[in-house]
Amino acid sequence: MTNRKKYGIIYYILIFFDFQRKKAVFIKIKVAESAGFCFGVNRAVNMVYKALEQHKPVATLGPIIHNQDVVNDMQRKGARIIQDVSELHPGESVAIRSHGVEKAVYDKIAALGNPVIDATCPFVRRIHKIVADETSAGSFILIAGDETHPEVQGIIGHCQQNYFVFRDETVLKDFFQNLEKNFSKKLAIVAQTTYNNIIWGECLKVLPEKDFNIVVYDTICSATAQRQSDAAALAAESDCMIVIGGKHSSNTVKLYDISRRHCKSYHIENADELDTLDLSDADKIGITAGASTPAHIIKEVIFTMEENLNKVPETEEDIDFAQAIDETFKKLKNGDRVKGTVMSIASNGEVIVDVGVKQTGTVPSGELSSDPTKKAEDIVKVGDEIDLIVIKVSDQDGIVTLSKKRVDEQAGVDKVIKAKEEGTILEAVVTNVVKGGVNVYYEGVRIFIPASQTGLPREASLDELKGQTVKFVILEAPERKKSAVGSIRFVSRQEKEAAKAEFWKNAEIGKEYEGEVKSLTSYGAFVDLGGIDGMVHISELSWNRIKHPSQVVSVGDVLKVYIKDLDPDKQRISLGYKKAEDNPWEQFKANYEIGDVVTAKIVSITSFGAFAQIIEGVDGLIHISQLADRRVENVKDVVSVGDEVQVKIIGIDLDNKRISISMRELLDAADDDAEYDDED
Ligand code: SF4
Repeated sequence: MTNRKKYGIIYYILIFFDFQRKKAVFIKIKVAESAGFCFGVNRAVNMVYKALEQHKPVATLGPIIHNQDVVNDMQRKGARIIQDVSELHPGESVAIRSHGVEKAVYDKIAALGNPVIDATCPFVRRIHKIVADETSAGSFILIAGDETHPEVQGIIGHCQQNYFVFRDETVLKDFFQNLEKNFSKKLAIVAQTTYNNIIWGECLKVLPEKDFNIVVYDTICSATAQRQSDAAALAAESDCMIVIGGKHSSNTVKLYDISRRHCKSYHIENADELDTLDLSDADKIGITAGASTPAHIIKEVIFTMEENLNKVPETEEDIDFAQAIDETFKKLKNGDRVKGTVMSIASNGEVIVDVGVKQTGTVPSGELSSDPTKKAEDIVKVGDEIDLIVIKVSDQDGIVTLSKKRVDEQAGVDKVIKAKEEGTILEAVVTNVVKGGVNVYYEGVRIFIPASQTGLPREASLDELKGQTVKFVILEAPERKKSAVGSIRFVSRQEKEAAKAEFWKNAEIGKEYEGEVKSLTSYGAFVDLGGIDGMVHISELSWNRIKHPSQVVSVGDVLKVYIKDLDPDKQRISLGYKKAEDNPWEQFKANYEIGDVVTAKIVSITSFGAFAQIIEGVDGLIHISQLADRRVENVKDVVSVGDEVQVKIIGIDLDNKRISISMRELLDAADDDAEYDDED
């Protein structure tokens, strides 16, 4: 016999000797993993047993589950079954079963003052809350289900009379056809937790798309849906199905209905009925059980089937059947590492997982990840298989609480320790700024980066790192309750050094770069060439005379520069910024010659003459003797700074950057012209 999971199903092979056929025969038995107690029933049964163990007088309001064996056992242990709260003895605890009850029943118990063991399944209680809230808000409730079922009766009892129960899509369709078009109330639709998923889908299809305000609450319990889909899958691949559960259990009857659509099926309450079944032509037998069927009854059925077969003597291939079955119903304890399959993600971020046990596995949102910025949907999706650690087992609630975060943290801690040992550069997002530094989370491990290790200047705000992906190394590995310590600065320094080495490898005079102006001084601008700074001297910033670099560039400007000079030993780089084609003397040379008459602007006055700008960057001197056709004692008697005057270029000395210009030459020419005119 082997024991392995397939489609959430436990799988056995029985080998027995068929005396009629005189040969060993293999019978495959598969038990649906979802067979038996669901979370809600398990919880209810445990709550009653716990009260009985504490020797409390207990009365159950109706049989606590649809299973006579369990009910008999509870009665033997002192529980009474009552049909109405009026039968309660004073001080007796009243257990409300997982189906729940009407609001009026709670009110009656409160009036009597008896203690309540409220085992209403939380999924059912959610429906009570929905219908109570909706009816209080004036909505009309539509309930998919069986009106005679106690769960539906309980739901009705929270609806304040505004309800309609429908069995299937046909009844629902009729309801809407008969509903007046001006029906103004909002319609809220819920379903009995054990309602058939397929019929529910059909019902949703017949909902009118307009005219009415309809809100749909999918309240079918996932345990029921899972049990039903497991039963369908198992029946489809079996020759015969055995469905175990009370004859009055509606969910067991539904499982039987689903199974018999696919193969020959039997509905039995316990192993005693096995004799009545014809399994002679079945090589593949599937077993499932209703939500009220205890594990021991399922075990008993399987054991009895084994006994009824002529088992061959023990061989190496023969398998310990009891052990395999026990594993099916295994119990978990705190600290166990398990694999779980994600079944659903609740709106509050809680994740329901199947960990191969009867209890419901839940991972609270806070136990999913250490990274507070991540949502459950970012971390897992339905169907994922994830590693988990058990942090709490509650038999009373039938819940196993698990943590993914703690598994990840341990794996993350191992990785962080290794990264420290190997000096590996890690990458993560800065999640928050804390006192004295920032936090990043790497593989679930919190890493504190002190402000001094962020690489930011002292005066900078740490907030600018928030949300940024940063590279860092681990300085201190995480220890018990202490987070790891990391350094961004170490990495940025390393990167700078690497960039510097790369720069010096390729740097040569004349090579051009694009760089950002990082700072200005009175003698030049420092430009970042990508990890290394070079300086553009003030004289290199402009062809014109400037007093400060800020007249030409600002911090943050991106400049195209080239290397003018290099000193690798002193790690000094002189940069050029001016371009030859922008040199005003070159422009002057190309466009002007002796004899040209131009308009120039007086820019300064000295004792020996006045300087006038011919083009920007090129000034010419009007010597005092060239200002007028007479003797000039004082330059200011003829021109003032700012005057625009006509001058003639009379001398060009490009080597010494000297231009001589004259106003007098033009006056002489004018006189000549005048004389010529007079003669004329
Ligand atoms: S079937 Fe679902 S709703 Fe019903 S008792 Fe079980 S867990 Fe609760």
